[in-house]
Amino acid sequence: MVAQVIDGKAFAAKVRAQVADQVTKLKEENGITPGLAVVLVGEDPASQVYVRSKGKQTVEVGMNSYEHKLDPETSEDDLLALIDKLNNDPAVHGILVQLPLPKHLNEDLVINSIDPAKDVDGFHISNVGLLGTGQKSMVPCTPLGCLMMLRDHHGSLSGMDAVVIGRSNIVGKPMAQLLLGDSCTVTIAHSRTKDLPDVVRRADIVVAAVGRPEMVPGDWIKEGATVIDVGINRIERDGKNKLVGDVDYASAAERAGAITPVPGGVGPMTIACLLANTVTACCRANGLSEPEGLTA
Ligand code: NAD
Repeated sequence: MVAQVIDGKAFAAKVRAQVADQVTKLKEENGITPGLAVVLVGEDPASQVYVRSKGKQTVEVGMNSYEHKLDPETSEDDLLALIDKLNNDPAVHGILVQLPLPKHLNEDLVINSIDPAKDVDGFHISNVGLLGTGQKSMVPCTPLGCLMMLRDHHGSLSGMDAVVIGRSNIVGKPMAQLLLGDSCTVTIAHSRTKDLPDVVRRADIVVAAVGRPEMVPGDWIKEGATVIDVGINRIERDGKNKLVGDVDYASAAERAGAITPVPGGVGPMTIACLLANTVTACCRANGLSEPEGLTA
């Protein structure tokens, strides 16, 4: 079998177009422009790239982007004061604090100071609890993007065996909750899992979110399974810098029914889902019905 490639880049463009339509509607029918505030503390080069890209895409879909770049030495009190201001600003519908934060700042405290209704990353403890109990919440962007691609490919996921490799709060755990919400039988595998190959071989859906280059070889993949590769790993091969996933793409594509490439799979969906979450938050804040297909 040669796997169908799930094109995350094209899918993300479709999501952005849906968001842009919704933004136009909000402006024309309600006089509201959704706004996303991104807070960056410090000068981490990767974070700077992400923040720039988020700001650019926010503006491209017609929303307002508010960037707050703070000194690396910013105190916790000053950061919390800024978040409080954004929480109370009616022009701001989504707030994202770029992680990781400098070591002197308490990440949990900072994230939990964001108004849960504006927590477009879905990391606030209230949103984690709401997702865990199957209630309406803000859903973390990367797992939401994975879910959208899976639903698009399969229609219903009901009854499928899903294995999520990785148990992080950002990807693995919320991904497992979402799959459970769609009635999959879910296994969460991690660094202490016994006989990982055997666990993965049972899966109709494999989501790999580990951060180890090409650790899942093709012969772990059940014939016809759908493989979602969240991993982004920079390696050097043949004297060149390359991005690879957690799955060995070449061998997995020979057995899978469908697979996301790296790059061009899950990655582009993450920012698209951030924009989707912002428009959803804006609709909820204004008591308007939510756009179809942009949330879990
Ligand atoms: P993390 O380091 O927080 O978690 C990694 C998880 O992998 C842990 O739960 C650990 O138990 C598990 N693990 C480690 N070694 C293992 C092994 N040998 N076998 C099985 N499980 C093992 O990482 P994260 O934040 O969840 O990110 C995972 C990967 O996804 C990284 O490559 C990251 O760059 C990528 N990522 C991509 C996006 C995107 O937009 N595409 C977003 C977030 C993360």
